[in-house]
Amino acid sequence: MNKTYDAVVVGSGPNGLAAAIALARKGLSVLVVEGSDTLGGGMRSAELTLPGFTHDVCSAVYPMGASSPFFRTLPLEQHGLRWVNPEVLLAHPLDNGTAGVLYRSVDETAAGLGEDADSYRRLMGPLTAAADDLLGDLLGPFRIPRHPISALRFGRAALRSGKGFAEAYFRTEKARALWAGSAAHAVIPLDHRPGAAIALMLTIAGHARGWPVVAGGSQKLADALLSYFKSLGGEVEAGRWVKSVDDLPPAKAVLLDVTPRQLVAMAGHRLPDGYKRRLGKFRYGPGVFKVDWALSGPVPWANADCRRAGTVHLGGPLDEIAASERAAFDGQIAEKPFVLYVQPGVCDPSRAPIGQHTGWGYCHVPHGSTEDMTGRIEAQVERFAPGFRSLILARHVRGPTAWEAYNPNTVGGDIGGGVVDLGQLFTRPVARWDPYSTPDPQLFLCSSSTPPGGGVHGMCGYWAARSVFRRLGG
Ligand SMILES: Cc1cc2nc3c(=O)[nH]c(=O)nc-3n(C[C@H](O)[C@H](O)[C@H](O)COP(=O)(O)OP(=O)(O)OC[C@H]3O[C@@H](n4cnc5c(N)ncnc54)[C@H](O)[C@@H]3O)c2cc1C
Repeated sequence: MNKTYDAVVVGSGPNGLAAAIALARKGLSVLVVEGSDTLGGGMRSAELTLPGFTHDVCSAVYPMGASSPFFRTLPLEQHGLRWVNPEVLLAHPLDNGTAGVLYRSVDETAAGLGEDADSYRRLMGPLTAAADDLLGDLLGPFRIPRHPISALRFGRAALRSGKGFAEAYFRTEKARALWAGSAAHAVIPLDHRPGAAIALMLTIAGHARGWPVVAGGSQKLADALLSYFKSLGGEVEAGRWVKSVDDLPPAKAVLLDVTPRQLVAMAGHRLPDGYKRRLGKFRYGPGVFKVDWALSGPVPWANADCRRAGTVHLGGPLDEIAASERAAFDGQIAEKPFVLYVQPGVCDPSRAPIGQHTGWGYCHVPHGSTEDMTGRIEAQVERFAPGFRSLILARHVRGPTAWEAYNPNTVGGDIGGGVVDLGQLFTRPVARWDPYSTPDPQLFLCSSSTPPGGGVHGMCGYWAARSVFRRLGG
């Protein structure tokens, strides 16, 4: 006979594991069921290119992970996790050889922004001082903030588009470009709101705790979460793709770390038509095309700060980045795509044989695009690091269709669990007082398709677990 659990969680991404841990910490019996043979969802690492080169398959840099109000309560260091920060968190090179640079220190960052220094310091100083309060208030469902003054200060700046914010606060090309690159993480056009909110959160988190990578690769974060979960008595079953929630062992609550489309496929027969119709209107966003490289040496960036940076944003000035993001959103291919490049080796030498490096880079492409972007991405790296191509020992590429085959949550290559704009920020997957619950009292959604959305922070899972406690009474 099937064993009975208090809760079964389908999916072992950061949100599935966060939900599972939050439940197990309250003494509930919890089983995590994962389709893939390797646990961790968007936190897996693998030798994608050559032996000895450890690549982060999905996520690589963790401003939100290191600042996550939930992860920070967990003893993950005791379970093998070590965040490592580069000296330079983020560099954004321009064609004239200069670069906008994000450091841990607000003052140091401001000092590099010339006539925008005061504006940057005035804005980011108070917000960074209130970082923990703000992230606690913002990374969750819509509710009355506990720290209304900080939230108001944040909200006044954040409700703008990425471009609107850059033009309102900064005058220099360097500051505007640096800002635009962070706003582009929202994967919406730069003139859409609330792109500024995403850039602000990433920047505040950076000043508070950095933009670290995980020593040894992102899999170590998944392993630490799993190890802690198991230490609480949690159980895990990998290699089992769930087609219907009816196939799961009996449980009081079932939490799905999946997106709305999969929720309907797995549990549609238990959900009312009205709710399913609303789920059907959920909007997925552009996809990503990613390249991982094994490199024979460090990237020869023309700008010296880029050589010390963990993350390098490649797209030149604001208008160029805006054109690239607009193209991906409108179903077009950008000839000069905005590229997010990560070089973990600057602070974690374990990723490649001595003297060699891994490179990680992707750009946004139209939803479901089949275009090979390898050449265009490498041209952007070469533009700011002449000689890059000559270092390539091997590469691994993955576009939207392959992403969805790798992880069905990546619908059409969308890595954010659905568009994050004003229409879907707090009302994901549908407008509902408790967005984690469903009309079926046993079923909950805990993926990045719920607030606060994409990124490795586990907060969607944490809040979904709170919803379970409310329903089960605990
Ligand atoms: C290329 C790329 C780069 C990224 N870079 C970053 C970054 O640098 N920093 C950052 O913070 N975030 C980054 N992200 C985003 C981040 O990885 C996601 O936002 C995050 O992983 C979402 O977590 P999740 O738990 O909601 O879902 P996932 O991590 O997608 O986990 C869902 C899990 O559910 C499993 N699953 C799905 N359906 C079933 C089923 N039917 N049966 C059983 N199991 C199932 C999947 O196999 C998967 O393991 C990146 C993502 C990608 C793809």
